[in-house]
Amino acid sequence: MSERERLVFATGNEHKMIEIRAILGDRYDVVSMKEAGIRADIVEDGKTFEENALIKASAVSRIAGCMAMADDSGLEVDYLGGMPGIYSARFLGEDTSYDIKNQVIIDMVAKAKPSERTARFVCAIACAWPDGRSEVVRGTFEGEIAKAPAGPNGFGYDPIFLVPELGKTSAEIAPEEKNAISHRGNALRLMRARLEQLAEEG
Ligand code: IMP
Repeated sequence: MSERERLVFATGNEHKMIEIRAILGDRYDVVSMKEAGIRADIVEDGKTFEENALIKASAVSRIAGCMAMADDSGLEVDYLGGMPGIYSARFLGEDTSYDIKNQVIIDMVAKAKPSERTARFVCAIACAWPDGRSEVVRGTFEGEIAKAPAGPNGFGYDPIFLVPELGKTSAEIAPEEKNAISHRGNALRLMRARLEQLAEEG
């Protein structure tokens, strides 16, 4: 087997690393920033998920001197004009618990008609190379805001994200089941396909 190319993924989140390695690990030697010995405080001042992912991937690729990837994700609630969107982590303040953030969102959509409760998780993944080349893809996961939080799995907004086909929130499904349909899983699979296409084109 040919040696796998090194790829630094700009995250310190171990759960993300497991998912990333499951989808890209056979083709790339995926290491986290910590494993690569990189410490960088990158200001995510983009206006879109794609811009933020690209800012992180480009910065890490320049520092690491090899291919780097980064993601940026969040929850878009249609009734709230797409909020919290790119501000999902910062919504009501970084230190506010998700029990509170989730209850506030439920309250904010309380007057919405059933058809207006639609929402989606979005994940942009960017790949950048030290010579300045880059690729960006977007994965989505469609759902609705639940009437009440439910489920012990996942993190963040998962307890209020109802997956209509399953009749469960994304915190009520097993992690592997979520990875198979999630915004991040979908974006990683799209990026894998894009990289395979680029490799074929030579
Ligand atoms: P980041 O891209 O890891 O910075 O995530 C941004 C924020 O979006 C997280 O802090 C969560 O609030 C939210 N988020 C992103 N993906 C998910 C998910 O799969 N479940 C629940 N919340 C998520």
